[in-house]
Amino acid sequence: MAVDTIFSKIVRGEIPADIVYQDDLVTAFRDINAQAPTHILVVPNHVVPGADDVTERDEAVLGRLFRVATAVARAEGIGQSGYRLIVNCGADGGQEVPHLHMHVLGGRPLGRMLPG
Ligand code: AMP
Repeated sequence: MAVDTIFSKIVRGEIPADIVYQDDLVTAFRDINAQAPTHILVVPNHVVPGADDVTERDEAVLGRLFRVATAVARAEGIGQSGYRLIVNCGADGGQEVPHLHMHVLGGRPLGRMLPG
């Protein structure tokens, strides 16, 4: 049976989300618990559990993911002011949802990369 995640259900439109972009490879939607004025997640439409699971077959989707993340940032009006792209991986990386996703965060100064 194929692996399924909450983000797969968003991709398929089975649970509600504020989708800002979707194509054949990736989907972008607003984070339900925004940490900044702009906080959007960009995910592959198929499940890649995390960064550590990326293989050669994911190269095209990851290129698209990066391009869509930056296009979404520009569409949000933060292309010039700047933003942060984050991919958390695994327990120590703080990854909660086992479906690879890139956070697009901006709209205010984000400070240092890590606290402390
Ligand atoms: P991470 O800690 O990198 O795995 O981030 C997971 C993110 O997914 C968190 O920022 C959550 O707020 C977000 N999230 C979880 N469920 C949903 C949902 N149903 N719709 C939108 N964002 C979600």
